[in-house]
Amino acid sequence: MSSEQEWPPPPPLSTGLRGRCSHCGQGHLLSGFLKLRSHCEVCGLDYSNANPATCGPALRQRLTLDLTAVRFP
Ligand SMILES: [Zn+2]
Repeated sequence: MSSEQEWPPPPPLSTGLRGRCSHCGQGHLLSGFLKLRSHCEVCGLDYSNANPATCGPALRQRLTLDLTAVRFP
């Protein structure tokens, strides 16, 4: 598919929770557990401008804070 094709704006919450492309809402954002794809396989959106280095530390910090809050309310 071409990246010049018009796509309706996908709903951000369901798109993010399902790990889909922010442009078309159909392509996958991740190729593994936390590995970002190089581009969308449906619309061709280039993901190279995203910084995947912040995803792992942010997730680890969030899980640590949540588990601490559950254990020590
Ligand atoms: Zn896409």
